[in-house]
Amino acid sequence: MPRRPQPVYDRICACGCGKQFQSTRHYKRFATLECQVRHNNRKSARGAKLIDAAIRWRKKRDKGSFTDMCAILDDIIAEDRKYEKARKA
Ligand SMILES: [Zn+2]
Repeated sequence: MPRRPQPVYDRICACGCGKQFQSTRHYKRFATLECQVRHNNRKSARGAKLIDAAIRWRKKRDKGSFTDMCAILDDIIAEDRKYEKARKA
């Protein structure tokens, strides 16, 4: 019995690089392994920075520590918007 041709999915890389690629895997989100590693490293760095700020805020309740945490989140949101814009361009 002949094999059915696999569907090919057109994708834009989720790392924010804007690369277009095709995959036969519906779940594939990154153009290359480097893109995936870069994305995961960025996520880890963001998470670590945010957790440190959240612990400072919760533990010491320093004046301005909540503002610092919000500033980190604002930076993350701004960075994501930049990547989104690059992806749409
Ligand atoms: Zn990429």
